[in-house]
Amino acid sequence: MIRIVPIQEAYKRKIERQEKLQGLKFKCHGSCAYVGKDISPGCYGCFYPDAYHRGFILGRDLSLPNVCNKDCVYCFEPHIVRQEPVVAEGLKLGEDWQNMLKENLEQDKKKITTDCKMQYYEFTGICEPLLYLPVIEELMAFFREVVDPFMGTRGWAKIYTNGTLLNLDNILKLKKAGFDEVRVHPGATNFSSEVYENLRLSVKHIPTVTVETPAWPPHRKKLFEMLPVIQDIGIKHLDICQIEITGKAQLERIENALGDIELYQAFYPVMDDGGLVEDIMQEVLDKGYSYSVIDCNGFVKQSRSALSNRSYWTLLNRKYPPEWEKHRYERKL
Ligand code: SF4
Repeated sequence: MIRIVPIQEAYKRKIERQEKLQGLKFKCHGSCAYVGKDISPGCYGCFYPDAYHRGFILGRDLSLPNVCNKDCVYCFEPHIVRQEPVVAEGLKLGEDWQNMLKENLEQDKKKITTDCKMQYYEFTGICEPLLYLPVIEELMAFFREVVDPFMGTRGWAKIYTNGTLLNLDNILKLKKAGFDEVRVHPGATNFSSEVYENLRLSVKHIPTVTVETPAWPPHRKKLFEMLPVIQDIGIKHLDICQIEITGKAQLERIENALGDIELYQAFYPVMDDGGLVEDIMQEVLDKGYSYSVIDCNGFVKQSRSALSNRSYWTLLNRKYPPEWEKHRYERKL
């Protein structure tokens, strides 16, 4: 059964859980709750949505089929499940794409040097991005060779994968393409040992390796078992995201799987995790693990949703917090 929790109750619950968690830190005016030294630089793009932010949901944004080699219950949009690469080696998007990306660069630069201070390039799914690797390499070459020099700053590039195809060959291709961060979703394989091995391989070649996986209640036990394992591997950040509900079919699948669920309204309806993320944070603090943990909850989605100039950051807050500035200056070309 689905219960819609009134926002007063949902927000109160959330804040009460946060208040109990000694060691919880906040940034970005409270939208970002985390424990540990600092969040991944790749997360800042969501809190400052008027940055130069080029995120590709492959294949939707490239007019290609949405394909994943997994089929998670909580996946937010329908996709084709298949194992073969979508984009064959050697296939190019071509100049039209480059021209489209070049179109607003002048304007973007004006904005970035006055308001924003940073670029973000990200590749994610309703699909498995590594099935589209040749076009990712093509787009990254454009960002590194054209956009970075034009902006005068090295943008932060990240890819979000379920980790199944993160073999040495693909890791080295991502390294060569100039990725700063690889984010891996072990929940997609029920935390398989193959994906842990791929994480172990990735930390040797990619500067920042993050685990990003949902606060999915059936994963509770596996999530807790994961915490010492990723410490041993050398993961820098853990991102636990609340399940966003974006469609009726997805909601039905979740309801069938879990029975009772509670939703509350943020920008998207989100699923209350019953305090799972705070419990994980507490465990990480108690055990003294060195990676940071961010609670990617409905409040994050809220600030992330402000993708236009009407963002309250832009309206009310032309002055950006110090970490934003620092971030840009540390990443000169
Ligand atoms: S791995 Fe990601 S894209 Fe694939 S089914 Fe799971 S949630 Fe969806």
